[in-house]
Amino acid sequence: RPTRAGLDWPRAQAFLTQERARFTNAHPRSAALAARARDHLLFGVPLHWMNDWGTPFALHVDHASGAQVTDVDGHTLVDFCLGDTGAMFGHSPAPVADAVTRQATRGYTTMLATEDAAVVGEQLAQRFGLPVWQFAMSATDANRYIVRWLRAATGRKKILVFNGCYHGTIEDVFVDLVDGRPVQRDSLLGQVHNLLDTTVVVEFNDLAALDAALAAGDVACVLAEPVMTNIGMVLPEPGFWAEAQKIIRRHGTLLVMDETHTISTGPGGYAHAHGIAADALVLGKPVGGGVPCAVYGMSAELAARAERAKREAPPGHSGIGTTLTGNMLAMAAMRAALTEVMTPAAYGHMLALAQRLAAGLREVIARHGLPWCVTQVGARIEFQFCPTPPGNGSEADRILDGELEHLIHLGLLNRGVMITPFHNMMLVCPQTTDEHVAQLIGALDEVLTQITQKA
Ligand code: PMP
Repeated sequence: RPTRAGLDWPRAQAFLTQERARFTNAHPRSAALAARARDHLLFGVPLHWMNDWGTPFALHVDHASGAQVTDVDGHTLVDFCLGDTGAMFGHSPAPVADAVTRQATRGYTTMLATEDAAVVGEQLAQRFGLPVWQFAMSATDANRYIVRWLRAATGRKKILVFNGCYHGTIEDVFVDLVDGRPVQRDSLLGQVHNLLDTTVVVEFNDLAALDAALAAGDVACVLAEPVMTNIGMVLPEPGFWAEAQKIIRRHGTLLVMDETHTISTGPGGYAHAHGIAADALVLGKPVGGGVPCAVYGMSAELAARAERAKREAPPGHSGIGTTLTGNMLAMAAMRAALTEVMTPAAYGHMLALAQRLAAGLREVIARHGLPWCVTQVGARIEFQFCPTPPGNGSEADRILDGELEHLIHLGLLNRGVMITPFHNMMLVCPQTTDEHVAQLIGALDEVLTQITQKA
């Protein structure tokens, strides 16, 4: 496999065996808790994805703080996964912990607003340049709701996504291109509606395909990450978004930017930093400093159309929102995160350190003679098993190698460093230090020494 060029695969397999034994020996309490949970939790974990780490059994956490996670066996790990972005601003950032503590004895949920609601609305409008906002409990739900608003507002049924995308478990996006043809993603469980009727999929960075796919005038919105981050990172080619916006607008389609991961770019996200004027924006995961919540914003024009659609609809369930949406605890957490945590100063530290991490990774990869590249979007970094970054979802898919990823991740974990279990994503948070970065580089150096071909 091209992803394994420069590696000594038999040596790598032996290394994996040794690392699995090392993990097992070092984590008796995790092993015992994993065994105990097996009878009453599906797959033995609260969410079945928690088995995707590539560890011999589920690692159990005692506590997490700042850039570190301490497991139940007393090992403290430097955390570059950060809950796959939920804790992008560190675990339990102090202002959020204080706000949650204050709210803890003042009620959590009343289906009514507190003062925090108006403040958070103002903060979001200022930061992202979109005037009108709503809330959700997860990025998935924020995407589900904005798509519903947009279909209602435009009267169009279809949406367009880019091949290889991920926007949470909103069903509509699970459509892939296989040999250039759209197919429903076969991993999706329990799906009964044919998604191909209402979801159109094209390759990222393919303007001609985008233009052709929108030409019939029946697509409500393009739902996209400004940089694809969920099939490994795929950067937009220079000028892609400028041209794409013109095409989208020309066909009367609306643009939704899902900034859930690309908020790593800077305080206003990628679109704001790169002059992309979206009609709507979605942000989940870190917007409450790790407390579950999400937001979505709209242009004034779209908000007016959305309000009209609701007013003109028969009274009853809109299919948008859940009972706990916008609850008082989440609003308090978001207010603290937006005003005191996701600050320019925090980003200053994260971006500078991420730059040093990227440089360090490139150096260690080069030293081991591997044909891998390092891709960066602000505080988010990834090493990819190819010499130059992939240009679209199909190319990115071809260079994923789950076995190799898991082997590296386990090697890093045994050396005190945790990265995201999906491909090779790393995040730098405000509490990450130069020493933490050095530890990651050193650990990767050791792992690569064990699995590469020796001259
Ligand atoms: N949008 C993007 C871009 C994501 O990466 C994810 C999760 N990885 C989601 C939405 C969904 O987030 P959640 O699982 O918190 O709903």
